[in-house]
Amino acid sequence: MESILLEILEKLRAGERVDERALKAVLHAHDKLLAPGEKHFSKKALLPFYLRVKEREPERWRAWGVTPELERALVRALRMKPRRTASGVATITVITKPWPCSSNCLYCPCDVRMPKSYLADEPACQRAERACFDPYLQVSARLQALTQMGHPTDKVELIVLGGTWSDYPRAYQIWFVAELFRALNDGVAADGTALAEACRERRSAYERAGIVSTEEACAERAAAAQRAVTAGALSYNEAVRELYGAQSGWADVAAWQCADLEVLLARHRVNETARHRVVGLVIETRPDLITPESLTLMRRLGCTKVQMGVQSLDPRVLATNRRATTPAEIGRAFALLRAFGFKIHVHFMANLLGASPEADKRDYARLVTDPAYLPDEVKLYPCALVDGTGLVAHWCDGSWRPYTEDELMDVLVADVLATPAYVRISRMIRDISSGDIMAGNKKTNLRQMVEARIEKDAERQTSGRETQPAARGLPRTAPVPRVQEIREREISLAEVDVSALELADVAYETDVSREHFLQWVTSEGRIAGFLRLSLPRERAMRALFEGAADLRPQRAGEAMIREVHVYGAAARISATGSGVQHLGLGRALVERACEIARAAGCERVNVISSVGTRGYYRGLGFERFSPEGLYQQRDL
Ligand code: SF4
Repeated sequence: MESILLEILEKLRAGERVDERALKAVLHAHDKLLAPGEKHFSKKALLPFYLRVKEREPERWRAWGVTPELERALVRALRMKPRRTASGVATITVITKPWPCSSNCLYCPCDVRMPKSYLADEPACQRAERACFDPYLQVSARLQALTQMGHPTDKVELIVLGGTWSDYPRAYQIWFVAELFRALNDGVAADGTALAEACRERRSAYERAGIVSTEEACAERAAAAQRAVTAGALSYNEAVRELYGAQSGWADVAAWQCADLEVLLARHRVNETARHRVVGLVIETRPDLITPESLTLMRRLGCTKVQMGVQSLDPRVLATNRRATTPAEIGRAFALLRAFGFKIHVHFMANLLGASPEADKRDYARLVTDPAYLPDEVKLYPCALVDGTGLVAHWCDGSWRPYTEDELMDVLVADVLATPAYVRISRMIRDISSGDIMAGNKKTNLRQMVEARIEKDAERQTSGRETQPAARGLPRTAPVPRVQEIREREISLAEVDVSALELADVAYETDVSREHFLQWVTSEGRIAGFLRLSLPRERAMRALFEGAADLRPQRAGEAMIREVHVYGAAARISATGSGVQHLGLGRALVERACEIARAAGCERVNVISSVGTRGYYRGLGFERFSPEGLYQQRDL
């Protein structure tokens, strides 16, 4: 291993490009020297080896003569899956413990080893189960993996998944998030490994309670209950109460799985200057559980984005699929999330029971054009049939069938083309493995298929060979459709000429605000950074908080910056660039937002900063917290 590493270092020192191909050649050459049956060298083992030697054998490491600059080049060359942190932010997904859900949606998986709607063989779920769903253990393990894969972990986005967040007890919610922060504040050892003592202590607490964490043991423990649930003899909630309730070891650990806000706030303060700072905290819940009280708590936890399962805006489809919510509740949830400044991420499903391809297209068009809704991000996916769900009976009696691939493509293409420039479609499939899908789409590259179809349609139109454009709802004379949604336009890892970027403003109205989506774009419309500014309408705000004025998060005359995002490559370049962007793309976005807010008559601007970005905003003049303590604020 050492000789491989030294060869790579030599190449880097000589200024040679060490890309995937060059690495493969080095590894291959060393593999050839191995004795028959010996294990081949792998790229992923190189960085952990380097970090281990640096930490535990300092003399050996010193002999390699690695300067900080050379080390940076080495880490870049050995980084696994570089797209994972292309935005400059490392994402860590964690799962809460299995818990009853107050809804029972027809299509929702009922895996009793997991919180409702998740399946034990999804990668994040497997990791969570191995960690006894403990937030500290989950974050430590991910931090270790990302560090040893060569990813930067100074900026971390935490995504909390699992059933319906607001159904968990308040003290558990606070404890869970406080532990996430504790894990990041503790960090990892210099060789990238998790802090052994803290993890050992936590693991033995679960062992003492008799909680198992290996896949086989968990499967065995849940087997009988799972069979009963799949056969319809037991509900998911009943099984979960049995397995994780008062008679189980989970009751013992529940006694210490609670914390109060004081503990949490102390951990927030440490994280403001920690090595691994939280730049985003995402929580998922249901529209009918979104209230001023639940959002106030989420904000106190440090949450910046809410994932909300909308699935449909058709009241008949919602009721048929036993969704415990209505379009009116969904609209109110949007308004409240906007008033609190959260980024609004929604889940939307095609092919639910009672839907049709044409109705699905209309439904999605409403989501992205009706001022009552208008999300910032969408996870768009087709319904899939999973064993043990209520949908199985409808599949058996023929009242539900999965769309054909053509039907599904038609819906998704129409949805993507209808998506405005300020919306990001973050995913087009759910992380359900094909082995769990009894019927429905099993292709994991739906997005690429949709992109290819859009491109092909556009080519056909421009070449004049389109014979049946009306079939897609397009008039023969329609201009070539262009995809506006953010993900398609992100610069991602590409280098960009910052001096050629333009700042464009996409303004739009919602039921409760005027929104400005400020974006740095290249001449081809590629996006290098953006900001979301919300200018609440006073009358709408008063109506929204009627009878609960004390829970209103901002006062009259206050604007809200809901998100600032500059992509990794552009951020790096703008930090060293000249001209307008010398100040930094993010700062320029904030200054423009303040100008717009001032021109609209606002006296103050709030920003929904994350705990780890408070220092950044202090540097931009957001000195103090708003009276309610939920936001940083700047006078205009
Ligand atoms: S609310 Fe979510 S987790 Fe609960 S049953 Fe419905 S889809 Fe599943």
